[in-house]
Amino acid sequence: MIDRVRSFPFVLAMNHVVTPPDLPSVAVLGRTERFPVRRIYCVGRNYAEHQIEMGGSGREAPFFFLKPADAIVAVEAGATGTMPYPTLTKNLHHEIELVVAIGRGGHHIAAANALEHVWGYAVGLDMTRRDLQNDMKKAGRPWSIGKGFDHSAPIGPITPAAAVPGIHTAPLVLDVNGAVRQTSHIGKMIWSVAEIIEHLSAAWALAPGDLIYTGTPEGVNAVVAGDLLEARIDGLETLRVRIAA
Ligand code: MN
Repeated sequence: MIDRVRSFPFVLAMNHVVTPPDLPSVAVLGRTERFPVRRIYCVGRNYAEHQIEMGGSGREAPFFFLKPADAIVAVEAGATGTMPYPTLTKNLHHEIELVVAIGRGGHHIAAANALEHVWGYAVGLDMTRRDLQNDMKKAGRPWSIGKGFDHSAPIGPITPAAAVPGIHTAPLVLDVNGAVRQTSHIGKMIWSVAEIIEHLSAAWALAPGDLIYTGTPEGVNAVVAGDLLEARIDGLETLRVRIAA
C-alpha cells in the first residue's frame, strides 16, 4: 500500500519534465510583495489621433492583441530599466500607455462594475517592431512578431487604484533623450478603462494577474540603441528605460 500523504512532496518535485519557468512579476509601489503577471492584453488604436496616424478613420471599435507574460521588463521605483534593441527590425517604435492591473477576475463584466476589478495602475511601453507589424498587416497575417517579442512590454511599479482617483483624466508624456515625443491625456481615450474591461471580458475570462495596456496617443516614432525613454502619467511612478545595443 502506498502512503499517499508521505509520497506527495516527492511527486510535486517530479511533475515537470523541464525546469518550470519563473513567474513574471511587477513591482508594487511601497510594498515588498509583487504583482504576478498571468496575461498581457493590449488595446489597439484607442486614441483618435493615433488611429488617424495609423491610417484609420478615428472612430473604429476597439480591438485586442496579446503579448506573452514574460515580455515584461519590470522596472523598480526610481530605477532605469534596460531593453535590448530587438532583432529583425530597423524601426523600433515607442508607445506610452496606461496599464491596468486586474485584481479580481470575471467574464462578461459590465462597465458599471468594471473598476471594482482593477487592483492598480502603472505606466507601460508597448514597444513595437513597426516594420514587421506593417509587413504582417499588408499580408493579413498575425501581429505577434511585431508586438509580442521578448522585452516588448516595459512597465513601472503598480500604484493601487485607490491611491490614484484622478487617473482617468491624468496627462501622459513620453520623452526621448529629454525631448517630448508623445503628450496627451487619459480622458482622450476613445474607450475608457471601464469600457475596455467590459469589451475584453466578453471575449476572455479575466483573472487576477492580468495586465491591460490601454493604447497609445499620437506621436509614435522610432528609437535607437542608447536612447533614454522617460514615460510619465500624473499620479503614477515614472518609467525610465534605456535602449541597449
Ligand atoms: Mn499600443
